Amino acid sequence: MSQQVVTRFAPSPTGYLHIGGARTALFNWLFARGRGGKFLLRIEDTDRARSTPEATEAILDGMAWMGLDHDGEVVSQFDRAPRHAEVARQMLAAGQAYKCFATQEEIQAFRDTAKAEGRSTLYRSPWRDADPATHPDLPYVIRIKAPLEGTTVIEDAVQGDVTIRNDQLDDMVLLRSDGTPVYMLAVAVDDHDMGVTHVIRGDDHLNNAARQMLIYAAMGWPLPVYAHIPLIHGPDGKKLSKRHGALGTSEYRAMGYPASGMRNYLARLGWSHGDAEFFTDAEAQDWFDLDGIGKSAARFDFKKLEN
Ligand code: GLU
Repeated sequence: MSQQVVTRFAPSPTGYLHIGGARTALFNWLFARGRGGKFLLRIEDTDRARSTPEATEAILDGMAWMGLDHDGEVVSQFDRAPRHAEVARQMLAAGQAYKCFATQEEIQAFRDTAKAEGRSTLYRSPWRDADPATHPDLPYVIRIKAPLEGTTVIEDAVQGDVTIRNDQLDDMVLLRSDGTPVYMLAVAVDDHDMGVTHVIRGDDHLNNAARQMLIYAAMGWPLPVYAHIPLIHGPDGKKLSKRHGALGTSEYRAMGYPASGMRNYLARLGWSHGDAEFFTDAEAQDWFDLDGIGKSAARFDFKKLEN
């Protein structure tokens, strides 16, 4: 028996559910539902300054209106911080990460010198290979020991193989000096722990995938399938913004727009199935597949949606 499909929608609760987020949620929902899989919801509320309970409510509300039901409890990423820290410490114990005692001033001085000498300003910590016996009793961050050579290849179901040179990745911080995890660690750990098999999200996260893959590799975890969907543009080809029309699902709802029409319209925004223009939910679930997702930005046309 093949493995059960598990997808997730992982919005940051910093505003209403907009068209782009709703489409990402819809694609994940269609993919899971069409395969008897699970569709999970994780609220990425680690940025305490920008996350609000009202935004979480608005997102849940928008999803309920769209009919995008999720499986299990809503996961709060912030609540999982102890688990993220635990993984950073496991990586440390396994020699896949190290304590870095460099101060902000030292890091800045490194960059200034590198720039002046025309070298890469990617920070390389002198603590990477330091003997723990020489460690001072000072605050430190935990950094991943990223490979210095070779490449990381994201085998993306939409973008094809995307190759990143490892010498362009730094030893990113996993755990800050106050013990809080960074976002990149949180996403990788959560996706792994939640058993996510397919990560379907906007292609603004493509570069993050390479960094998240380093964490998977260090922990010996099996990788999910990645599918990075091109972002949505307005009819003028520019990044979608308010001036292209209403952007929140709640606005369409207030206008009396039916959720089924919204689902149909959003399903076709960047995905196609032959010439089919209208389909039932069952058909959409049946037909939806990652190879039907286009490689170029979808165009959102407010007028078309209104008609
Ligand atoms: N929280 C991110 C966002 O709202 C999504 C992260 C992800 O899907 O991995 O853009």
